[in-house]
Amino acid sequence: MGDDSSKRFSSNNHAGAVAELVENLGRLPGIGRKSAERLAFHLLRVSESEALALADSIRRVRKDVRYCSACFNLAETDLCAICSDPSRDTTRICVVEQPRDLMSLEQSSAYKGLYHVLLGRIAPLDGIGPDQLTIDALVDRIRAGGFNEVIMATNPTVEGDGTSLYISNLLSEFSVQMTRLARGITAGSVLEYANREMIADALTGRQKL
Ligand SMILES: [Zn+2]
Repeated sequence: MGDDSSKRFSSNNHAGAVAELVENLGRLPGIGRKSAERLAFHLLRVSESEALALADSIRRVRKDVRYCSACFNLAETDLCAICSDPSRDTTRICVVEQPRDLMSLEQSSAYKGLYHVLLGRIAPLDGIGPDQLTIDALVDRIRAGGFNEVIMATNPTVEGDGTSLYISNLLSEFSVQMTRLARGITAGSVLEYANREMIADALTGRQKL
């Protein structure tokens, strides 16, 4: 202690509204108290329109963004941009855990098929079972026909692999080829952090399940 600058920024000295902003920013992942204060003071310093643009983006994203009714990617209309793109290859479906995994695969530009977002992975220790994911909807899509290949692109973790195995067992009654991404992505790393080339390699070298 004895550091005057940290004392000066202690919440006791903030006006109520500022303290509230610091508290709300501090709840964001990866944002500690110091960063929350820095962000709050930044927002007070910039022009009103710049600060309010952030508030508007948050409002808009919460109001307009929903899950695609077909694949559970993020969407602003009933179907996401990928499901409504007629140039996509509708015979392939790539199964990912989260919308951000889909974004990583899209950035690699190596895949032109459709997706299915599980919105999580089976995690018994966290109490997440198959029925809390979008697995039923995936089975319905495969049952409806038209797909030749299901590419499992869950993360190469124990839970990701378990989820992939569970789904491939469920889908074994359908005549689709099951594949998974090649392990160019080292075990434990997640799609989110993999670079474009690694993802493209993992897609090109995908293996039969
Ligand atoms: Zn979609």
